[in-house]
Amino acid sequence: MNPFVYHNPTQLIFGRGQLSMLKEKAEQLGQTVLLVYGGGSIKRSGLYEKVVSLLQEAGCRVLELSGVEPNPRLSTVKKGIELCRQEGVNWILAVGGGSVIDAAKAVAVGVPYEGDVWDFYTRKALATEALPLGTILTLAATGSEMNRGSVVTNWDTKEKHGASTTFPAFSILDPENTFSVPRDQTIYGISDIMSHVFEQYFTHTPEVPLQTRFAESILKTVVENADRVLANPDDYDARANILYCGTMALNGTLPVGVETDWATHSIEHAVSAVYDIPHGGGLAIIFPKWMRYVYRENVARFVRFAVEVWNVDPSGKTDDEVALEGIAATEAFFARIGAPTRLADYEIDDQHLQLMAEKATPFGPIGSFKKLSSEDVAQILRMSL
Ligand code: NAP
Ligand code: FE
Repeated sequence: MNPFVYHNPTQLIFGRGQLSMLKEKAEQLGQTVLLVYGGGSIKRSGLYEKVVSLLQEAGCRVLELSGVEPNPRLSTVKKGIELCRQEGVNWILAVGGGSVIDAAKAVAVGVPYEGDVWDFYTRKALATEALPLGTILTLAATGSEMNRGSVVTNWDTKEKHGASTTFPAFSILDPENTFSVPRDQTIYGISDIMSHVFEQYFTHTPEVPLQTRFAESILKTVVENADRVLANPDDYDARANILYCGTMALNGTLPVGVETDWATHSIEHAVSAVYDIPHGGGLAIIFPKWMRYVYRENVARFVRFAVEVWNVDPSGKTDDEVALEGIAATEAFFARIGAPTRLADYEIDDQHLQLMAEKATPFGPIGSFKKLSSEDVAQILRMSL
């Protein structure tokens, strides 16, 4: 196991009715709040009204940044930064999915920074200060509610990059707020959660049984609850289990002491930057192809994955066969729940394949399970067509 420091300061407030905690939090965080949300799902669900009245009960002046796009854009983040500076905003409240939270994080670190907030995403600068941020999550997927990552798209340059920004001070997760998530977004969320685990599970670091079993538990719990949630979107316990899996998959628990990969996320970000497709949809397509491309680097890990997660019976089979059965089971699962399986599902052909391969590797080779050059990425994209 490698040396590590584990620190996660986000207070996770989970369960039915927990929204009422917002008032107390708002009273502590200051008078002027920027409420950040997306294209209107929170208005349709009635969450918006509840949030605003709790903020008003707490005596807050509420300003708004609405219309945050799925795959949030730098231009929207900059509007938010301007507004915060003009109005002397004390803290930010993001209500929505990962895109809303990521945009809010970008605003939070952008306000006290004198340079261009994009510097954090191009690795020119590291965020050291931020306005306090709270979140109310409405979609199980990214883990952004309990990590410091933020992914923003610069639509002018067609670049999508992640940055280390700021942890939310608190995040309120009521599974009931995810009942209204449409079927396709529920599927993308499941794919994103599983992909976060894959990025941290396929490693060469030996002797990390606890992290390994944590990862397998998350995968099995997601798989067990996926059918339930798709059959009955209002199944509280199934929604709750997937929601908590989403948080645990990317809140810093899995990567401690482990060398993680993240190449597939970089590849997906490059595809989204050119075609603006849903993140989880792209991952469901690309991840199994990445697996096929790299599994020989550590066949034993893929054998374990097949046996532990997909219950593949290894008897009488070679390691290669077992590993490939596990990958096929992953593919079959994504297909069964209705995730896209090929880039053609988004009408993406090989026209910009080379461009995407280069965009996926802007700082040199990516990944650690197998280091991937832009040529390797082009190969994986070709397999995904
Ligand atoms: P999202 O882009 O935040 O939301 C997708 C769609 O779902 C939006 O149209 C949104 O509508 C809708 N929606 C959200 N909650 C809903 C609800 N309760 N009922 C009905 N509709 C709802 O999706 P996401 O998968 O959470 O976030 C994706 C982004 O996060 C990508 O940019 C990805 O690259 C990034 N990401 C970040 C991290 C991280 O750690 N920070 C990790 C992985 C991925 P409204 O806009 O109307 O609300
Ligand atoms: Fe992701």
